[in-house]
Amino acid sequence: MQTTTVVIGAGHAGLAMSHRLTERSIDHVVLERGEVADSWRTQRWPSLRLLTPNWQTRLPGYHYADGDPDGFMPAAKVVSTLSSYARHIGAPVRTATTVRTVRAVPQGFEIKADDDVLHAQAVVAATGACNQPAIPGTAEAVPPSITMLTPLTYRDPGLLPDGGVLVVGASATGVQLASEIHRSGRPVTLAVGEHVRLPRTYRGRDIFWWLEATGLLAERYDEIDDIIRARHLPSPQLTGTHEAPLTDLNSLTAQGVRVVGRLGRIVDGLAQFSGSLPNTCALADLKMNRFLNRADEWATTADHDGELPPPHRFAPTYVDPRTPLELDLTSGEITTVLWATGFRPDHAWLDIPVHDRAGRIRHDGGVVTGVPGLYILGMPVLRTRASTYIHGAAADSDALASHLLSFLSRRR
Ligand SMILES: Cc1cc2nc3c(=O)[nH]c(=O)nc-3n(C[C@H](O)[C@H](O)[C@H](O)COP(=O)(O)OP(=O)(O)OC[C@H]3O[C@@H](n4cnc5c(N)ncnc54)[C@H](O)[C@@H]3O)c2cc1C
Repeated sequence: MQTTTVVIGAGHAGLAMSHRLTERSIDHVVLERGEVADSWRTQRWPSLRLLTPNWQTRLPGYHYADGDPDGFMPAAKVVSTLSSYARHIGAPVRTATTVRTVRAVPQGFEIKADDDVLHAQAVVAATGACNQPAIPGTAEAVPPSITMLTPLTYRDPGLLPDGGVLVVGASATGVQLASEIHRSGRPVTLAVGEHVRLPRTYRGRDIFWWLEATGLLAERYDEIDDIIRARHLPSPQLTGTHEAPLTDLNSLTAQGVRVVGRLGRIVDGLAQFSGSLPNTCALADLKMNRFLNRADEWATTADHDGELPPPHRFAPTYVDPRTPLELDLTSGEITTVLWATGFRPDHAWLDIPVHDRAGRIRHDGGVVTGVPGLYILGMPVLRTRASTYIHGAAADSDALASHLLSFLSRRR
């Protein structure tokens, strides 16, 4: 089969791109290994809610209008929203079609998808940023009697073995799952490395309102000092609920979760935690306050102080001086280790040498370096900080579709 453009992946990013290509009358097909929004159907735990508010779920040709704009969508609602979006924009999605390889050929690209071979002048990889768990090598030293899980395989605390759970990682995923598992009656220990502390609301507005209003989410990839670091920042310690103002370490400690330092290594069944937890927490507090200062300065400059409650600050993170530095994983106290240590993309199907030494695709804001006609979409801070979130795909897909159109015009 011959088509002008193949988009791989029918998550929100692939669908947004499909809409942008249709707007420009660019013939294309979207190849999807499962169903539309497959990651949200198969790779997310059922109780997950978006941490971005409903009003922010914006895609090209779609604005959220289902009521409760300040609420947070459960994963199942993300599935139904993206499915109706795909129908609404008439996206030409071929489901149950897994792309096995993409190769560069003289006429463009050869795409092998299951038993089919397609040829296209351009390819947009929108296969997701979170297809695989990023698990540290020390996981190999976990005693075999312990059940190991990742956020991709975790479903419900009731399915875990009885006994204590060590959650490794305190980003949004780690804090949410630590809290949920603890509420199920299992004792939870949370190993905390570098993290991003933010309140759910500040001065009466959702934190994402502030992140947009202050212009932080609009910061461009080519204006950020350390783009590699920005692209690997942990997600903020937030939960999609207004029940508590914070889902931070203080609230988890108050709930009864035992907070320890970053998991360094496991030797002879002994998990060893970093002693730098107080410094790590002080740094997270400092960065949160730096952002709140920026928010307050913006509110004053933009003349919003009159309509907002006055500025305030949150209590610093409390670290118990008796925090243990070791935990014996052979004692039977811990029966499950949950690796909430981040995610990575899976581009194993891309048979073109575009990776750097760290295995990352080299690209300039989504335009893959050295391979005209190849694009990547849906990655953290791809073109702006908003690229990390669903709504960021609106501007990113627009910019890349324009680039793709000029590329096709030049070829002709
Ligand atoms: C736990 C978690 C919580 C998140 N919470 C939020 C949030 O609150 N707000 C927010 O804005 N963002 C959130 N995100 C981030 C972001 O929205 C997701 O990473 C999003 O799923 C990325 O969208 P995508 O379309 O790029 O990729 P995906 O949604 O992962 O879609 C990629 C699609 O490609 C398909 N695919 C993959 N490989 C192939 C192949 N070889 N052949 C064919 N098809 C293939 C997959 O089946 C999938 O359907 C969250 C992410 C995670 C992991």
